[in-house]
Amino acid sequence: MWWIKYLIFLLLITFWCCNSRVSELSVTPELMEELSLEHVGVSENDCHVIESYIPDTTIPYADNLLHIRMNFHFMNTSDWSNNFTGERGIYYAKELVRYANEKLFYNQKMRLPEGNDTPVYYPGYRYDLQEDGIYFHADDELCFYINEGKSNNYKRDVIDKYSVGEDSILNVFFMVHHPDSVRSDTYSASSAGIALGKSLKLGVKFDPNEEPWRHSSLLNHEVGHVLGLRHTWNLNDGCDDTPKNANCYGATESGRCKAPTSNNMMDYNNAQNAVTPCQIGKMRMQMANLNSRQRDLLDKKWCELDTLRNVIINKPVHWTGAKDLRGNIIIQEGGSLMVSCRLSMPPSSEIRVEPGGELILNEARIYNDCNLQWKGIVVVKEGRNQGKVYRRGAVKLENVKGLPAVAE
Ligand SMILES: [Zn+2]
Repeated sequence: MWWIKYLIFLLLITFWCCNSRVSELSVTPELMEELSLEHVGVSENDCHVIESYIPDTTIPYADNLLHIRMNFHFMNTSDWSNNFTGERGIYYAKELVRYANEKLFYNQKMRLPEGNDTPVYYPGYRYDLQEDGIYFHADDELCFYINEGKSNNYKRDVIDKYSVGEDSILNVFFMVHHPDSVRSDTYSASSAGIALGKSLKLGVKFDPNEEPWRHSSLLNHEVGHVLGLRHTWNLNDGCDDTPKNANCYGATESGRCKAPTSNNMMDYNNAQNAVTPCQIGKMRMQMANLNSRQRDLLDKKWCELDTLRNVIINKPVHWTGAKDLRGNIIIQEGGSLMVSCRLSMPPSSEIRVEPGGELILNEARIYNDCNLQWKGIVVVKEGRNQGKVYRRGAVKLENVKGLPAVAE
């Protein structure tokens, strides 16, 4: 009988907390077992729904910015004449990455379908160029990007030979078309790229005077592939907000490329500045997946407690997707937080349920993703008023520091 267990829980709290006006009770895994309260409206949840991974902008730090580690390689001939070198190369790589991050930050509204009301969200990820992460390689055999004929664009040889920290860093190879190919009338030396696992290759026409921003959207497009996105113009990419289209580079007065044309990051166009809520959700769901290669590329900022990133809950909230928090959770009066998936709490953090607040654990797993300890759930009592914790199904509390049952 659930109410008997609940009664035991209330008695335990009363027993532990009766002597002081404001007191706290740590909910240990053992005590959690005692808790079992049916809560109206709690039901099974599928943790793999794209919508659950679109950042919730109404609750700061519930969905943190994800940092993707990046290395940048310039491939050159042995006379160093076919790509950027030295200080200019370092500047070029840094600027290109900065522009690419800026483009993500200033995500634009979709132009398609005409008259759409697709909302615009911040994608919530960025690239962090690693310290000493810019490399220059002279290799006459592997340096060129060959798009046609004896094409090598899908080959991994340059990646296998030169990538650094491939398991945990996204390696970008900035390659150029062969100068002979560029001179040929039949070879298309347009900018191209290919994503191969955790690495990617860009193939461009080398111009020493090129502005770094020019290939920033190409980088975003290829990283989009690394993060699991597909082209939108010709096939079903699994998103309803990315309509198929004519894949026009730019709009024309009339004909098949009459405006509006696509500006989506995953089409080939001169803007590539829009990424939709579904695409964002898809990428972030991949990065939240514990077994994904995309997650390996992330700098685990959530392995350190940052109290400036505490999450304050003061309204009803349901987390239907996995989360990696960087701060404490404080559930205030009027706040109700339901957790239905994986939730990583930073080391030494706590979930604090204040009087008038409630925490509902729905087959949740709350733990520390870095195998460090966190403080657990703390229920606060003030006079007769206290925070409430409910449980449904199997709840796992892991990596909780062995605190005494009562903390004052
Ligand atoms: Zn592509």
